[in-house]
Formats: sequence, C-alpha cells, structure tokens
Amino acid sequence: MKRLAILGSTGSIGTQALEVVAANKDIFEVEVLSGHSNTKLLIEQAKQFEPNAVVVTNEEKYEEVKSALSLLPIKVFSGSTSLDEVVQWDSVDIVLAAIVGFAGLSSTLAAIDAGKTIALANKETLVVAGELVMKRAAEKGVNIIPVDSEHSALFQCLVGENPVDIEKIILTASGGPFIGRKTNYLVNVKASHALQHPNWDMGAKITIDSATLMNKGLEMIEAKWLFGLRNEQIDVVVHPQSIIHSIVQFIDGSQKAQMGLPDMKLPIQYALAYPKRISNNFKRLSFKDYPKLTFEEPDYKTFRNLALAKDAMYKGGNTPCVMNAANEIAVQAFLQNKVSFIEISDVIEKTMGHIAYVEQPDLEEYEHSDKEARLFATELVKKSQLAS
Ligand code: NAD
Ligand code: MG
Repeated sequence: MKRLAILGSTGSIGTQALEVVAANKDIFEVEVLSGHSNTKLLIEQAKQFEPNAVVVTNEEKYEEVKSALSLLPIKVFSGSTSLDEVVQWDSVDIVLAAIVGFAGLSSTLAAIDAGKTIALANKETLVVAGELVMKRAAEKGVNIIPVDSEHSALFQCLVGENPVDIEKIILTASGGPFIGRKTNYLVNVKASHALQHPNWDMGAKITIDSATLMNKGLEMIEAKWLFGLRNEQIDVVVHPQSIIHSIVQFIDGSQKAQMGLPDMKLPIQYALAYPKRISNNFKRLSFKDYPKLTFEEPDYKTFRNLALAKDAMYKGGNTPCVMNAANEIAVQAFLQNKVSFIEISDVIEKTMGHIAYVEQPDLEEYEHSDKEARLFATELVKKSQLAS
C-alpha cells in the first residue's frame, strides 16, 4: 500500500486524485487530507476516506471541521505550520502537492526534507524556488514526479533515456480560450469569459493563467528545473487540440511525444503509481475523433505574459519569484473585476521592474521577494481604473 498525503484535496487536482484513489483502494490509502476554505467538501472527503489526519490550513475554519469529525478517529489540525509537520510523519509515503500558488512551497519543502516522494502539481513551487527545491531533493534522494500534464509527458518520454541525450523539449500549449485574438479584443474580456477553457476543467487561477498564456511561461520554468535544462533548450508550440501533451527531441533528431485525451486523472495516476502503470477505464483516444492535429507559433506580442515569463526565466535569481507573486495578485484582482485582462501583464511587468534583483536567493530571500512583490502589485492594482 502507498500511503498518501493529499495537499489541496478540495481543489481540481485534489478531487481528481481522490477519484483515482477510490478506484484503486488496493494500492492507495489516504493518510492526510488538507483544504483551505471549502470545509463542506473537506469534511465529506474525510468521512469517505477516513485519513489519519485532516489539516484545514485556514485557521478560522478549525472549530467547524473539528466538531464535524469529532466522532471519528481523525486528528484535526489547522494552519500551514501543522501541514509542514504532518507531511513529515513516518506514515506518509507520497505527498501530492496540489495546493495552488506560493502557498504550496513550504509544505513541499518540508516533505522533501523528510525524504518523501513528491507528486508535484504545484508548479509555482518550481517557478519560485526551483533551484533550491531541486537541490534539496537531490541531497535527500527524493523523487519529484510531475503531475502537470506536459511535464508528465516529458517524464514519460524520458523513461529509459539518458538526460544528456536531450537536445530540447517542446511544451505544447492549447492556446486557451483567446487563441488567435489580438489586443483590441482582449481589452474587453471579462473573468467569466476567460474562465471558459476549451479543453481542461481546472481551478480558477490556472484557468486564467491558461487564458493569458502565463501558464505556459510558468511551465517553461518548471521544466527547466525538473529536467535540468538550459534556457535555450525549452520551446513552446501551440497545439489547440491538447492531444500531444509535449515532446522531447534528442541529439539524433528523433522526437518522442506522449499523447492521450486531455484528462488530468491520467498524469495524476501515473505520478502516484510510478514506476508502475495501472489499468483504468478512462476514455481512450481515437484518431477518428481527431482527424487533424495542428501546430502554430505562440503569439508572444499579444500574450505578453508568456514573454514576461520567458524573460524571467533568462534573468533567473529572484525574478521568477517576483513575477509569480505579481501574477498571483493580478489574477486574483482580475477575477474580482479590479483590473482588466490587459492590465494583468502591466502589473507583472512593472513589479518585475521594481523589485531589487537577488542573484542567488536563499529561502528567506525568496519569501522576502514574494512579500515585497505582492505589496507593490497590490498598490498597482489599486491604481487601475476598474478599482475605483
Ligand atoms: P484549485 O484552486 O482547484 O485548488 C487549490 C487547492 O489549494 C484547494 O484545495 C485549496 O483549498 C488549496 N489552497 C488554496 N489556497 C491555499 C492556501 N493559502 N493554503 C493552503 N491551501 C490552499 O487549484 P487546482 O486547479 O487544483 O491547481 C492546484 C495546483 O496544480 C496549481 O499549482 C496548478 O497550477 C496545478 N495544476 C493544476 C492542473 C489542473 O488541471 N487543475 C493542471 C496542472 C497543474
Ligand atoms: Mg500543464
């Protein structure tokens, strides 16, 4: 049995992971669940999966969860510090990091320090502090198995290969709901519109990131650290059908791709079961349904977030951390109709230009950069015409 800590169990990745667990009770056991504010769902999940511990990271919700589970043999904790402790328990084998944003960094690092295998959905962890995270993982001999579909694809293509034989990787991007649109269209789009992703059903933050193409920018940085690549080895192609999940090109020119229907349960299951594959009844890809797979260049000029993220990757140091923080603030503001779609990029660009550069940050410096960037970005948001 593999004993799991599912962090962010109430989210899109978390709930799909629990579907995988429910279908494979002979392989997986839930040891820990964590959620932030959706207490109703967290309580329901705890009753169904009977973990040893539940952590409600939002401390205001502790009493509610505690009393709802009082008759069950489940320990209830609250706050992010408790989460950092619980992931280190001996009874945990694998930690699924599925919290969204910078908030997921601390618990992932704690799990690495305790030598736990990490199934990593939280890409922001590697965007913010990829160098530090991968270094600690190497020191502890910890495996980080990607859950992000593109990175799972690359990981699967690399099984049995020697990493020095990679010439480059090509991340595929769906292009999001505004593919082919220009700035004159984007100025008017609203959150409800941007939340309609053509191929994937995901949490709100990543869905907006997909519409702005920031998601692909984050994924470039994620890939850099996960696979130890140089910046020049990382490419992006727009592939609107989301059937090819990414491609590795080797030094002999051969390319390997991983394909399938867009369904996050597959990369989640792969990461949790690795190195085994387990059978399932997910719908299979039929080429009859996809007679045409198409590819095009990304539009870096219109989708400025992709260019900003690429720029941050090349600059390195604390720049990706600053960019990520500004993006989290700007996306939240866009969801609340406090900045326009276009202004998301303005907030990020100005914040990246404002925060002092640190070449080799330690954890404290990353935390400091994150805080500073959030404060500055929040001030910028207040200046938007929509905010007043
Ligand atoms: P989501 O918004 O649906 O869920 C986020 C989870 O994190 C929830 O359980 C929530 O309670 C928890 N959370 C939120 N704020 C928190 C905080 N401050 N402290 C602790 N917990 C907090 O998000 P999601 O779509 O499931 O995405 C989770 C992560 O996986 C993100 O980093 C995302 O980029 C990545 N990812 C998601 C998908 C997808 O299909 N949804 C695909 C690839 C990668
Ligand atoms: Mg992805």
